[in-house]
Amino acid sequence: MNAYDLSLEELSEHLATWGEPPFRARQVFDGLWRRAATYEELTDLPRALRERLAEELPTRLEVITERDADGGATRKGLLRLGDGHVVEAVLMAYPHRMTVCVSSQTGCAMGCGFCATGQMGLLNNLTGGEIASQVVWAHRAARVARPEAEKPLTNVVFMGMGEPLANYRHTRDAVGRLLDPAGLDLAARHVTVSTVGVVPGIRRLAEDHPQVGLAVSLHAADDDLRSELVPVNRLWPLDELEQAVADWRGLTHRRPSIEWTMIDGLNDDARQARLLAPLARRMHAHVNLIPMNPTPHFGYGPSPPERLRRFADIVRGGGVPVTVRDTRGREIDAACGQLHWDAAATAPSEHPVGDRELPAREDLEAATR
Ligand code: SF4
Repeated sequence: MNAYDLSLEELSEHLATWGEPPFRARQVFDGLWRRAATYEELTDLPRALRERLAEELPTRLEVITERDADGGATRKGLLRLGDGHVVEAVLMAYPHRMTVCVSSQTGCAMGCGFCATGQMGLLNNLTGGEIASQVVWAHRAARVARPEAEKPLTNVVFMGMGEPLANYRHTRDAVGRLLDPAGLDLAARHVTVSTVGVVPGIRRLAEDHPQVGLAVSLHAADDDLRSELVPVNRLWPLDELEQAVADWRGLTHRRPSIEWTMIDGLNDDARQARLLAPLARRMHAHVNLIPMNPTPHFGYGPSPPERLRRFADIVRGGGVPVTVRDTRGREIDAACGQLHWDAAATAPSEHPVGDRELPAREDLEAATR
């Protein structure tokens, strides 16, 4: 059992079976989440209780390595969680916010060719606690970086390794943990879940967490190209995705974002820009253009700046807000699409290849029930 998988109520019930008074559960919960402390650091607890907690209710968050980039503004953590699952998470500091990008799966079965995680295949789904504990790692680092801030960590994006909505139940639980007022108490509007288009998950997310943001990784605006770049499009083509986003908007009244990786000579021409503009307008979406980050097994490169500018101008000309995102952490393979087990930090034997088969539509539907 992982302590980060438990709500305060569940922890209280658990500690009650040990004969602990109710206030202890609150003390432990507060220590784990708000103080981001280890059991050893919770010296206000009796030593015997700390030892029993570590033994029977471990927190299972081990930092294997941490690497910094962008003058210290970006930090990538290689973390071992739960049942030995190894993932990467990235903390990014901006002038008025600190954002952590978390992983929801070890690897990914969605098979987007430009993405290093997709090239690994799927090894495991993370539990809600394993996902949320990456935020605890970031919270700890953020507190060191900005000790004066009451809440140094402000934003969480589910854009790391894995497709969050293919691991729906645990993603939903992780979001619940992060928003819990007794714990980290993050603002729902500062949490964003991204998806390549797992349509039933989009609808469920709107029902379960209507205040949480949605980022749709689109990357192509016609079905032929999108099915090539983002294979899940074969299961839910663009018209079904558009309808799901409309339903999400109907429930949440929020503006989604569209993420578009700019790949030289593949999806960065004027035709794609002209197709994207009306689609984004109908979705009431903000478009983020991300210069492609190199990955080992993909033969294309990022769009040159001039092409990127032209693409952005066409989409903007169609009445859609567009942002060209800066690429953070590229030199430590921490940028969008680059997350993968860190070869420098783990032995080659720790790099098994996971399942690369696109899951069946029925299985993904079942996972969101
Ligand atoms: S882009 Fe996202 S969904 Fe696609 S393979 Fe990578 S992690 Fe999976």
